Amino acid sequence: MNLILLGPPGAGKGTQAKILEEQMGFKQLSTGDMLRAAKAAGTEIGLKAKAVMDRGDLVSDDIVIGIVSERLDQPDVKKGVVFDGFPRTPAQAEALDKLLASKGQKLNAVIEMKVDDEALVKRIVGRYTCAKCGQGYHEEFAKPKQAGTCDVCGSTEFTRRADDNEKTVRDRLHVYNTQTAPLVAYYRAQGNLHVIDGMADIAVVTREMSSVLSRVKA
Ligand code: ADP
Ligand code: ADP
Ligand code: ZN
Repeated sequence: MNLILLGPPGAGKGTQAKILEEQMGFKQLSTGDMLRAAKAAGTEIGLKAKAVMDRGDLVSDDIVIGIVSERLDQPDVKKGVVFDGFPRTPAQAEALDKLLASKGQKLNAVIEMKVDDEALVKRIVGRYTCAKCGQGYHEEFAKPKQAGTCDVCGSTEFTRRADDNEKTVRDRLHVYNTQTAPLVAYYRAQGNLHVIDGMADIAVVTREMSSVLSRVKA
C-alpha cells in the first residue's frame, strides 16, 4: 500500500505518518527529513538545498526525485510507503507515478489534510522536535507527558527548525498554494483523492485516516 499525505506546512503530515508507521507498519518517506539530514551531514545535496530550504522555497525537482528514487530501491520500503511532503509539484507527481509503475507498484490513496492558514501558523511556530529520536511536539497541542523530557526516548534536548518562524511559514504557505495545490486536481482526476478535516485533534485525524484506508483497495 502506497499512500500520500498531501497538505500545507503544519497540516500534521509528519505526526500522522509516524503514527501510521507505528500502527500499520508503513514506512514514512519524508523528503523534508531526508533533505535536513543531507544538510546536517554537509553532503553536496545538503549544501545545494540549504539556502533554498531556509527561505522556504522548493528544492529542485531533479534533486528531490533523485533522492526518492534511490530510497524506493531499498528493501525496507517494498511493503508500502507513506509519502510525507512529496510530491510537491506536478513534475514530482508525474515522476512518482512512473517510478512506482517501473517497480510494479501503484499509488493506493492520496489523503488531503485541510487546515486553516492561521491554525497552520500557530502549529508551525510552536513546533519542536526531540534532538535524539525525532519525535515531534508542540508547545500547546502536543506537550511531552513530563515537561522537558521526550516521551519516546527520555532525552532532554530538543531542536527547532530554521524555517519554522512566522515569516518563512507565510512564504511556505504561498509556495504550497501556488506550486503544490494543483496536485489536488491531478489526484482527483486519477480517482485517488480523499479529503479529511485536519483541524480536529490528532487522535481524531488518525481515526479518519484509518477509516479512509479501510475503504481503499490494497
Ligand atoms: P513541512 O512539512 O513543514 O512543509 P518539510 O519538512 O516537508 O516541511 O519541508 C521543508 C523544506 O524542505 C521545504 O520548505 C522545501 O524547501 C524542502 N522540501 C521538502 N520536500 C520537498 C519536495 N518534495 N520538493 C521540493 N522541496 C522540498
Ligand atoms: P507537517 O509535517 O504537515 O508540517 P507536523 O506533523 O509536524 O506537520 O505538525 C505541525 C505541528 O502541529 C507539530 O508541532 C504537531 O505536534 C502539531 N500538530 C499536528 N497535528 C495536530 C493536530 N491535529 N492538532 C493540533 N496540533 C497538531
Ligand atoms: Zn526522543
